Amino acid sequence: REKAQTLQFQAEVNKLMGIIINSLYSSKEVFLREVISNASDALDKIRHISLGDRSQLDSGSKLEIRIKADRQARTLTITDSGVGMTKEELINNLGTIAKSGTTEFLKTLKDTQDSNLIGQFGVGFYSVYLVADNVTVITKSNNDAQYVWQSDAHSTFTISEDPRGDTLKRGTSIVLHIKEGEEEFLEQEKLATLVKKYSEFINFPIYLWTEKEQDVEVPLTEEELAVKRKERDEAAEEAEADEEQPDIETTKTVKEKVPQWEIMNETKPIWTKSPKEVTQEEYNAFFKVLAKDLGDKDPLAHVHFNAEGDVEFKSLLYIPAEVPSQQQQESLVQAMGRNIKLYVKRVFITDDFRDILPKYMSFIRGIVDADDLPLNVSREMLQEHRNLAIIKNKVIRRCLALFQDLADNDKEKYEKFYEVYHQNIKLGIVEDAKNRARLSKLLMFTSSKSNGKMIHLDEYMERMKSDQKEIYYLSGDSLDTIKASPLLERITKKGYEVLYMDKPIDEYAVSSIEKYDGKFQLRNVAKGNLDLGDDKEETKRLDEEFTPLTKWIKEQLSDKLEAVRVSVRLVEAPAALVSSLFGWSPQMEKIIRAQAL
Ligand code: ADP
Ligand code: MG
Repeated sequence: REKAQTLQFQAEVNKLMGIIINSLYSSKEVFLREVISNASDALDKIRHISLGDRSQLDSGSKLEIRIKADRQARTLTITDSGVGMTKEELINNLGTIAKSGTTEFLKTLKDTQDSNLIGQFGVGFYSVYLVADNVTVITKSNNDAQYVWQSDAHSTFTISEDPRGDTLKRGTSIVLHIKEGEEEFLEQEKLATLVKKYSEFINFPIYLWTEKEQDVEVPLTEEELAVKRKERDEAAEEAEADEEQPDIETTKTVKEKVPQWEIMNETKPIWTKSPKEVTQEEYNAFFKVLAKDLGDKDPLAHVHFNAEGDVEFKSLLYIPAEVPSQQQQESLVQAMGRNIKLYVKRVFITDDFRDILPKYMSFIRGIVDADDLPLNVSREMLQEHRNLAIIKNKVIRRCLALFQDLADNDKEKYEKFYEVYHQNIKLGIVEDAKNRARLSKLLMFTSSKSNGKMIHLDEYMERMKSDQKEIYYLSGDSLDTIKASPLLERITKKGYEVLYMDKPIDEYAVSSIEKYDGKFQLRNVAKGNLDLGDDKEETKRLDEEFTPLTKWIKEQLSDKLEAVRVSVRLVEAPAALVSSLFGWSPQMEKIIRAQAL
């Protein structure tokens, strides 16, 4: 028989285990969430594999998770009938960290102590050492023998083929030897609470070994029987001779604690229910499971629908209330882009469809469960599948409709949404020509007439002057500089409204809108000659009168100016710098320059 092999953890793993133990000590219970989620992943994997090869399921039991505590032995065992691991997978998965960016991740974890990060970053397994001083992993894959992995987290682990043979058939058993002082994780009530909490949205049955009070029939003792007999005989004496006496009962019912497997979760996925069956609390709770990395915040809004027609699918999509902090984003770059989970008929397929939503909508989190996608083709082929393109379009439309619905019906929420995601909307206008018109409706700006309030372009259009042919805006670094601009003077005095664009991306976005609502061009008042419909004669007269001056200025600044003109657009200020109609505005020039750097 093969002797146990002792192997070293990768240096990063050692460091990681130290940091996890030292920074997450106040949320030790998360180990159970991580172990359950790994078991669920392993079950997802075997189910996925079996779609292409049914015989893969023959080797083991039903797809399920079982959790059992043994107080005498001080062990907590979590067993799944998932894919299991080959020897090589054991060594790689539980001894090394494959993901890059580990150093930054470790730093973030140290600083934030955010236990959600470990799950997001894919190092959840090591959290078992928060409560265990020794861990044994027994695992059996369809592709290898059964192996035993063991470690006390002190820089090495051992691996050996299991001398007992294939006790598991298929799957993995994690045996945690519970540390001194952490006995609560062996208590039934505590475990029941935690398992319920962390398994609410797991799509496989989870059983907990529990002792339940039950009615049990037990035989009567000799004394009890004697009493019964005596009672019967007394009754017989009083009764008529021919009356038949009933037999005495020889058993009684008592309450007794009976150990048994108790199911802890409901396995009907929330998105397969009708929206009427789901409460707001359930939607919020599911969001937190889905968007672990975003902490404990409720989402801003969601849309849950059943798409019918040529391609049928169910979907539940959320707008998170916040985007991850900059720091988090940087250390989680690797994990990002996995925001939509794709299922086919309730079978998890992947969360690695980086382009199921366009980049500008990457903040959306949710699930798409399709009926008509092939299950057992490669990711690349699936990516190109015609139905997936249709699904994508519908999902985008639904998201846009959700945004528009907020804008129409919940102003307060919409403003919150816009504050967090305005850049995404603007980026969408630039990148998504097909939905540009819809996205433009979502834009909001303050203006010369809005008293500091944000308005939609529709509101602007409603109060346009009858002779007005364009939508006017002015861009600048800040609202103050825009408002102080001499370029605003005459146009606002004449009663036209001018939108203020103080964000760098604003002008970039609106310059790709050809005509808003198919009617009006957006026009930067800092560019070219503004035709406000009058003053042509006056301009011509003044132009002639001041030719010597304009000529002189042009000569002095010939390398900096294209032209010097007399204009009637100013009221108080003597001069203003403007760009030519087809040139860049100062604001655009800044963006372009910043990008070039
Ligand atoms: P993640 O789950 O994010 O990949 P973990 O640290 O939780 O990171 O787990 C590391 C790896 O160990 C998993 O990716 C998986 O390959 C393997 N693993 C852990 N638990 C199990 C299990 N119960 N069955 C099969 N493989 C497992
Ligand atoms: Mg995990």
